[in-house]
Amino acid sequence: MFTAGRFGAWVWRDADSAQETGRIGYQGEGGAVSLNFSVNGEPVRQHITTQRTACNYGGSRLWFTCPRCWRRVAVLFLRGNAGFVCRHCGRIAYGSQSDDAMGRAWRKQHKAEAKLVDGWRRPKGMHQATRERLIAIIIECEERRDAALAAFVSRHLPGGWV
Ligand SMILES: [Zn+2]
Repeated sequence: MFTAGRFGAWVWRDADSAQETGRIGYQGEGGAVSLNFSVNGEPVRQHITTQRTACNYGGSRLWFTCPRCWRRVAVLFLRGNAGFVCRHCGRIAYGSQSDDAMGRAWRKQHKAEAKLVDGWRRPKGMHQATRERLIAIIIECEERRDAALAAFVSRHLPGGWV
């Protein structure tokens, strides 16, 4: 969906009536994606930029840039009229935070994030290697929660590509 020129939509349907209950259109722009949806009948068009980071063992990983705070994030949440924002801006608490393993990952990530300044920058006096180690911890925690969130969403919101 991030390829320039590619477009489509996610559609959700009621399990019984097959009636459409939600739709988000997307269009890849290369380095960004445009989303079209409506909130309470009001059409919203949101432009979300993406960024890539190199992985330790080769290849790269794609991230969203939160349109509100510019944080690099793995997951964006639709928050009514605010559109898609990161969990910080949306003040999202994952349901799975109550789960022990997820709670541990969450606390571990908070601790790592607290040592960095906004946007995962290095505070004065911190070694670059320390920052890289902290970011690796954050990414690992994000990935664990992403997997749990994806599993949750696919269980509760059966949808499909069109
Ligand atoms: Zn944000």
